[in-house]
Amino acid sequence: MTKVLKFGGTSVGSAANMKRVAEIIRHEKARITVLSAMSGTTDALVRIVTAAAEKDQSTIDDRIAMLTDKYTTCIEGLLDQHKQEALNRMQATFDLIRTETSNFREYTSERKIIAQGELLTSAIFTLYLNETGTKAVCLNSPDFMVTDQEGKVDMARICKALAPVAADPDTFYVAQGFICSNYKGEIDNLGRGGSDYSAALMGAAIGASEVQIWTDIDGMHNNDPRFVEHTYPIRNMSFDEAAELAYFGAKILHPATIQPCKDKCIPVLLKNTMDPHAPGTTISNCDDNSKSFHAVAAKDGITVIRIHSARMLMAYGFLRKVFEIFEQYRTPIDMITTSEVAVSLTVDSDKHLDEIVAELEKLGTIEIERNNSIVCVVGRMEHGDAGLAARVFESIRKIPIKMISYGASHRSLAILIATEQKKQTLQSLNDGLFQ
Ligand code: ASP
Ligand code: MG
Repeated sequence: MTKVLKFGGTSVGSAANMKRVAEIIRHEKARITVLSAMSGTTDALVRIVTAAAEKDQSTIDDRIAMLTDKYTTCIEGLLDQHKQEALNRMQATFDLIRTETSNFREYTSERKIIAQGELLTSAIFTLYLNETGTKAVCLNSPDFMVTDQEGKVDMARICKALAPVAADPDTFYVAQGFICSNYKGEIDNLGRGGSDYSAALMGAAIGASEVQIWTDIDGMHNNDPRFVEHTYPIRNMSFDEAAELAYFGAKILHPATIQPCKDKCIPVLLKNTMDPHAPGTTISNCDDNSKSFHAVAAKDGITVIRIHSARMLMAYGFLRKVFEIFEQYRTPIDMITTSEVAVSLTVDSDKHLDEIVAELEKLGTIEIERNNSIVCVVGRMEHGDAGLAARVFESIRKIPIKMISYGASHRSLAILIATEQKKQTLQSLNDGLFQ
């Protein structure tokens, strides 16, 4: 069994938690342990970056003081012989951050500063493993996690770099999640929450038997516990369902995580650091196929674009023209519905909306609506089964529905609603489909 284990910010958020993590990785015999930065670090570093751009020295000082406090407390609670070494390392990190803020270069300094959380956390944790008699080596992820001009990761390079790791069962390897190098060789990252994706890529690269994602909640729940009462963890789930849920708002997993593991048939376990014996969720090729409705998730910040055009009537090639405009502005489309004279699309980014609308206006009349949420119900909805959609809509009969997407896969039904109706929609679906 070759396992890759990833721990989120809360899991490594204090000396006590890091000690738990060490116990877990020893017990699981983790080959690679991928770490996020201690909780709150990346947010603070992002704040330092904006403050540096605005030349707001007092915010920079403030955040560095906060982080110094946090890491000093952790180091003092964790280390003894290696304490001074860790404190020196921490000091060097904050010196580097200060230097970058005073010679601030927009892209490069920003990326360099944001990477420091994972670098420092993994260094401290490796010192702890070595101090407690566990042979451990800290890898430098930007050496082998390399992206091309499009931001895609070079898988062959990771495989090659990690081959010696795959062949060495006697060492615990620690690596930073989230960070990478870009095509120019500069330090960069995979986007917020990207540590899960790092672990999936490393797991796929070494042909791991399992990738475990450790957080502070007991697996993927059937609905969003932040908004809904009486949710429960799901024990088994398919790769496709997990991918839909992660994409449509389940915060526990970064949406890119599933694909590398699905490609190599590597099960992904979602586990709780605070309760290691709880079963968590297993995501694999097999799922609990007895249930029509498995889980619900919601994604906010959705904008609808409606295109009305008589030119669509009986025409072919119209949708191609529409899609090409989105492609040109590298804007992914989430949902789509069509009628004979209109098409509605949703996007989760307003970044190029003005340019997109200007182009679309050449094709028809455009309407824009902001502040919507996609609510996605996943499960096993065979197209031969009657009454499943009816059950979904019966549970939310009081909610105005703006768009419906059903039939693309046997796995999901998505609806679009105003975000202000989200909580009620999630609760009604929970009461109607899961109780
Ligand atoms: N530390 C990074 C973040 O907060 C990456 C991660 O935790 O996955 O976004
Ligand atoms: Mg995360």
